Amino acid sequence: MSLYYWCHGPSCHTYSTQDRVRGSKGSKVLRTRKIKQQTESNWYDVNNSYNYFCSQGCQNDFWRTHIERIRLVAPRNEPLETPIEDPKREKHETGYGHAYYNTTIKERVDNDSNVG
Ligand SMILES: [Zn+2]
Repeated sequence: MSLYYWCHGPSCHTYSTQDRVRGSKGSKVLRTRKIKQQTESNWYDVNNSYNYFCSQGCQNDFWRTHIERIRLVAPRNEPLETPIEDPKREKHETGYGHAYYNTTIKERVDNDSNVG
């Protein structure tokens, strides 16, 4: 048996697409899309947002509608930081005489952690 979730986009049922049309003649509706959960697949991850939204647009609608509550659930009052090595800038030259630069950024592995 297949498992489905309904799209969590608050306006999903208002978008005029053929696949949202449901009902019998004379009483048609636009209905929220179903999202099949690929639970039998080894790549399935219940935490992926695409299990809950049929499109990026519906996900954006959800954020716009619920942003204040989302912000309160997980407030970010200060930035996070990842320690890195000093970035290394490297020059590369192509066979045509052009040069471009790459900057390598590597996470720093501290033995004496000053995070506390
Ligand atoms: Zn949707």
